Amino acid sequence: MFARQFKINFLRNLPISRYYPTYKRLLSASLTEGNVVVVQQPNGGEPLQFPSVWLRDNCQCSECFHDNTKSRQANWKRVNVESRIRSINGSHENNALTIDWQDDHKSTFTLAWLQDRDFAPTNRKRYIEEVYKPTYQLWAKSEFQNVLRTFEFKDVMTQDKVLLEWLESLAIQGFSIIKNSPHNITVVRQLADRIGYIKRTTYGIRSKVQRQRT
Ligand SMILES: [Zn+2]
Repeated sequence: MFARQFKINFLRNLPISRYYPTYKRLLSASLTEGNVVVVQQPNGGEPLQFPSVWLRDNCQCSECFHDNTKSRQANWKRVNVESRIRSINGSHENNALTIDWQDDHKSTFTLAWLQDRDFAPTNRKRYIEEVYKPTYQLWAKSEFQNVLRTFEFKDVMTQDKVLLEWLESLAIQGFSIIKNSPHNITVVRQLADRIGYIKRTTYGIRSKVQRQRT
């Protein structure tokens, strides 16, 4: 029922000349009864999916999102999480979707923005396995030489591609060897700085792990 209603709203908001024959190329969306917004892409790719409450939380209007600093201003104490969608309209000109909410907010999302944040199962699986947490590889002693990866210290420090390969080897195989590093105690610090900011712990930024002499 909801899907049909929003499709009708969408068509009503388009000039007559655009109903046909370009309809299949336009951005359109429907709402399922589980409050999931399903976006049909103009190029015919896999439909994009978003929980409606997530879209409301990420409303891009000037009251919810500060465009200059690209930061969210929404405050959950002020947001009505029960707010429902009043209508969804696709725009042919800027390839964007505009959602009118029952609490009078109006959110406009471009297709590129939606594609980057797609909640569809295939995209979530790709994100988890390729970006967030690569699937680790189990290996046995007999396979050690096959899974061993070796990197040059200089390459890790100077080439982003090699840095990524090294980090992937740590995430997937759990180890690797870095060769030809300088012979001094700053190497670990240099590598850590190469990855990102160092997280301070109760032991400080850096701590020694060494065996006590008995
Ligand atoms: Zn808003």
